[in-house]
Amino acid sequence: MKTSFIPISLKEYVELHLKSNPSASRVEITTALKEALEDYKKGEKCLNCGNPIWVIGSAFAENMCFTCITGEAIPEDDFEIDEACY
Ligand SMILES: [Zn+2]
Repeated sequence: MKTSFIPISLKEYVELHLKSNPSASRVEITTALKEALEDYKKGEKCLNCGNPIWVIGSAFAENMCFTCITGEAIPEDDFEIDEACY
């Protein structure tokens, strides 16, 4: 469930992502994350199963929940934007 995620601010996550993907575009990542976060706040649900979307995963794919994106039941050391954690 959402509570098992490690909360991270959008800014921090962008930095983290750029560290492991140096060729990625800061603007594109930020925009994609903001859009996914907006969708989350609007109450958009997973296209596949109807659960709340995983903002970070949805930014890089379609709006889906953690399980549908990763195939894992529960997040263990996975991040989620802090605004979507509470
Ligand atoms: Zn799902």
